[in-house]
Amino acid sequence: MSEQKNENEFPDPVYETDEPILYSVKDGIATISLNRPRYNNAQNNQMTYALDAAYFRAVEDDDVKVIILRGEGKHFSAGHDIGTPGRDHHLSQDRKHMLYDHANKPGAEFQYIKEQEAYLGMCRRWREIPKPTIAMVHGACFAGGLMLAWVCDMIIASDDAFFSDPVVRMGIPGVEYFAHPFELSPRIAKEFLFLGERMSAERAYEVGMVNRVFTREKLEEETYSIAERIAKMPRLGLSLTKQAINHVEDLQGKRTGMEAVFAMHHFAHAHNSLVSTDKLGGFDAKAMADSQRDKS
Ligand code: ZN
Repeated sequence: MSEQKNENEFPDPVYETDEPILYSVKDGIATISLNRPRYNNAQNNQMTYALDAAYFRAVEDDDVKVIILRGEGKHFSAGHDIGTPGRDHHLSQDRKHMLYDHANKPGAEFQYIKEQEAYLGMCRRWREIPKPTIAMVHGACFAGGLMLAWVCDMIIASDDAFFSDPVVRMGIPGVEYFAHPFELSPRIAKEFLFLGERMSAERAYEVGMVNRVFTREKLEEETYSIAERIAKMPRLGLSLTKQAINHVEDLQGKRTGMEAVFAMHHFAHAHNSLVSTDKLGGFDAKAMADSQRDKS
């Protein structure tokens, strides 16, 4: 029997760059930069797999002790690409997990497989990088952008940074990597999701989601200073410390909780498709951006 035709008809992507990720190493610190500034670093597959390759390169290089993730342009990350010309989530991917191709699959299977691979799977993979990772966040860290920051071991932000997960508006209980009750206390996590508004860097610091906050002018200097100090520690000690804390988080339910909520997340995608033929509940990139204006 031939495969049922996919309901998802999207135009071929038009990439604005061949380098959605920049990579450099200096003094034991690898810098990985999200490089789609024209689209506020919206994460398409092209970027996802380039980011994975950059992380792997940093892991393989014995001279790299610490990894810094940052963004080019005005913002750290606008989240998953749901509306740029380079949107390519419907294409087959060179998968990194033991999953079959999502691209030709019908109904809810398409999104379920795609997000296991590119969102939940990749984020878990990056969380397990055996070297310390630091997200250096300025401007927006929005929806899927939170996932990129949260999988890092530390988050250092500028005072103009802000954080938001607005997807409850789509009827979805948070982004795919459901670390909310670990990044925030359960009560603050509910507030964060129920309101779907911007959380300032200052507030994120107060509630423990961010390690340090510096002025925009000082952000780079201070972040690299912290990275340099970490880089002086022994590799194995850093790796074991990271494993130890991640392991304890998983014993506290981080991993199993995420599995359960991922199923709810996909129930919501499927429900949206049933009632509106749109997995995102009718929200496109502009509608989501508009929802964030005039709020603090
Ligand atoms: Zn999703």
